[in-house]
This record gives sequence, structure tokens and C-alpha cells, in this order.
Amino acid sequence: MKPANCAYCGDLQDMPFECNYCKDPFCAEHRLPEEHRCVKLTLIRAKKFGQRGVIRDGDKKSGFFKKIFGRKK
Ligand SMILES: [Zn+2]
Ligand SMILES: [Zn+2]
Repeated sequence: MKPANCAYCGDLQDMPFECNYCKDPFCAEHRLPEEHRCVKLTLIRAKKFGQRGVIRDGDKKSGFFKKIFGRKK
């Protein structure tokens, strides 16, 4: 990654951390979603809260789409 300013505190980082969720650059202090009030934080919490259901649902959907796109190609 290129040097970038932390999207939360504005500190210039030579090796910024990229948030896995909002893809913004952050310093070591603010790299965690909880530390930079990540815009996806509500989604992350929702996933954690209903983790089993979400994972099962996601697996079914991805398999479903793979079948459809595989046939079209
Ligand atoms: Zn920061
Ligand atoms: Zn984030």
C-alpha cells in the first residue's frame, strides 16, 4: 500500500492498515472497526450477533449464483 493519511485521525502513515470492511486507510491505533467507527460496524455486529444464520444463508446463496452463472457461460 502507498503512504496515506489515517481516515480517522489524519495521521500520515507510511504503511497504513486497510480496514477489511470499509477499505479506508488507518493508523495502527485506528485500524480496528471499533476504533474508527467503521461505517460497516453495524453490519459487522449484525453478523456476529446472528453468525450461524448469516453464514448458512450466504453459503446457500453463493452456491445458487454459481450454478446460474455456470449455466449461462
Ligand atoms: Zn488514526
Ligand atoms: Zn472500517
